[in-house]
Amino acid sequence: MKKTAQLYEGKAKKVFDTDTEGIVIVSYKDDATALDGLKKGTIMGKGTINNRMSNYLMQLLEKEGIPTHFVEELSDRETAVKKVTIVPLEVIVRNISAGHFAQRYGVEEGIVFDEPTIEFSYKNDDLHDPLLNAYHAVALGLADKSEIQLIKSMAFRINDILKEFFKTKKVKLVDFKMEFGRLPDGTIVLADEISPDTCRFWDLETNEKLDKDRFRRDMGGVEDAYEEMYRRVFG
Ligand code: UDP
Repeated sequence: MKKTAQLYEGKAKKVFDTDTEGIVIVSYKDDATALDGLKKGTIMGKGTINNRMSNYLMQLLEKEGIPTHFVEELSDRETAVKKVTIVPLEVIVRNISAGHFAQRYGVEEGIVFDEPTIEFSYKNDDLHDPLLNAYHAVALGLADKSEIQLIKSMAFRINDILKEFFKTKKVKLVDFKMEFGRLPDGTIVLADEISPDTCRFWDLETNEKLDKDRFRRDMGGVEDAYEEMYRRVFG
């Protein structure tokens, strides 16, 4: 399989077309952005870590019956994935209060919920990814009712699987963002990535932050946190 034209360059990844029908290649960068694009930087080694970690987790999820876009890891930074149309929703599941949830509702971080929560944002940079509910998503034609239902049930199942997995690595899965895509036949699959860029990870014992919040909040030790998560997953 060979790369052909570059289709897209996003904040953290580039996407290339290939000479194989229905397959594209994702290339992970070390670039990082936060705070709605206001904060920019580099996290050395992040591309490799996110690529390998995301691929590992997608394969774990596939084994548990969750369809994903994953096809084949090609190198440290590059992966072949199924070409999908992204459903323009950021799907966020939370187990513990943090980030925007804590800010929005005026509560401290670290409240452990009895049940996980789910929320959707409209993936639209010009509008700054506004929060919306399932009715809004259907009204806007972003997805139909049955797709929303399926995405919700997949998201909670993915959360169950990942929460258990990370517990064995002595990590709390606080919250995370997912994106789903449609295959040409309409099948919904998990797409994008699952990594310290898109998840909040806290050490099980100390609650030390092991994710992108170290970058967002200028806490230092950003590279170390990504490397530590890599060691916990693969070590
Ligand atoms: N998240 C993400 N991309 C976004 C917004 C959020 O990957 O554009 C992830 C984030 O890493 C966290 C979860 O979604 O694990 C919930 O994020 P939150 O809504 O608290 O917003 P944040 O404070 O991360 O901007």
